[in-house]
Amino acid sequence: GNVFDVERVKRDFPVFRETVNGHPLVWLDNAATTQKPKQVIDRIVYFYEHENSNIHRAAHELAARATDAYEGAREKSRAFLNARSVNEIIFVRGATEAINLVAKTWGAQNLNAGDEIIVSNLEHHANIVPWQQLAAKKGLKLRVIPVDDDGQILLSEYAKLLNPRTKLVSFTQVSNALGTVTPAKQIVEMAHAAGARVLVDGAQSVSHMRSDVQALNCDWFVFSGHKVFGPTGIGVLYGKEDLLNTTDPWQGGGNMIKDVTFEYTQFHNAPNRFEAGTGNIADAVGLGAAIDYVNKIGIDVIHDYEHHLLVYATGLLKDIPGLRLIGTAQNKASVMSFVFDKYQTEEVGAELNKVGIAVRSGHHCAQPILRRFGVETTVRPSLAFYNTCADVDLLVDTLYRLRSAKK
Ligand code: PMP
Repeated sequence: GNVFDVERVKRDFPVFRETVNGHPLVWLDNAATTQKPKQVIDRIVYFYEHENSNIHRAAHELAARATDAYEGAREKSRAFLNARSVNEIIFVRGATEAINLVAKTWGAQNLNAGDEIIVSNLEHHANIVPWQQLAAKKGLKLRVIPVDDDGQILLSEYAKLLNPRTKLVSFTQVSNALGTVTPAKQIVEMAHAAGARVLVDGAQSVSHMRSDVQALNCDWFVFSGHKVFGPTGIGVLYGKEDLLNTTDPWQGGGNMIKDVTFEYTQFHNAPNRFEAGTGNIADAVGLGAAIDYVNKIGIDVIHDYEHHLLVYATGLLKDIPGLRLIGTAQNKASVMSFVFDKYQTEEVGAELNKVGIAVRSGHHCAQPILRRFGVETTVRPSLAFYNTCADVDLLVDTLYRLRSAKK
């Protein structure tokens, strides 16, 4: 198979020439955002230097170049998710905006008092708050799938929550706080069997494993470009084409219309239907370059490499006296959340920063799942394909040193 040369790949990322407190940067905050390869940075620069124009409207050379670049990125996104059609790919600001779009369009239009929405205990606030807001406004019931002590979804409890009032199941494919990989295909199948629509939050999965919306058969799938080595401010909402075209638009304005009079407006079908106004053209193009970059390495190669690294790191962390790993499911990706007895989580983060290691210490915008495990915050190292065993060793050695410092 493919031999993965991590040191060579790392050289594609200019940020790894940075030093922090005199040490080479060790980026273990990938669940928050990922670093960008030169290929992505260069592509954005190229757009502004050679292609910059608004799209669709004007009939001149640069408009054509910008449109080709933007629609090319849509096709790359389609292939990346294995969607049937480019019409199913809507560019948005990120996963948060994608979920809000579904809540404020399909949800507002189709859900009524007494209807039920199911989320899991693992969700990021972005997949809780929009549904809670909608529930409060419309008299819906928000129900929560519990997890076991390893942080995995309890399918048997989920089955009990499903009923004829269930109209939507919205859940994450990978937990940003624990790293749990949920049994997504099964969750989708069970929801559909109950007659509910399903949204899959792919924010934490797309950079670690193959995404296939047709195999998953979800109704919507969302992700953020910045978590898959692309720019901030761009993301994707995938939706099944017939569903998108029977959902009323959200924002109104230019680009999303076929015809406007003062009496009446005719809307385009998807994707333009949901892309009112001038979008984030350059960063969509940058996202396209990020997808090319991931494809060049190969998402399956990435998956296997990261799996080995996660097993290696988990084995070492587990043995550190006083360190409690939170999230110990069989099936995990990237994330290793922990608390460390004599230390506050912020203290651990600050100590790691002293040797150049970036991790997040906090609630990770997923307070309900941390509280499920009796904590308010954790230290959260999270891996990507450019991390090495040496990165892990430095993390582990530093934690051992901290432990000896406070006996
Ligand atoms: N869902 C999950 C699982 C996430 O990890 C995140 C980002 N931490 C989001 C949604 C929201 O993504 P964004 O902030 O890029 O919109």
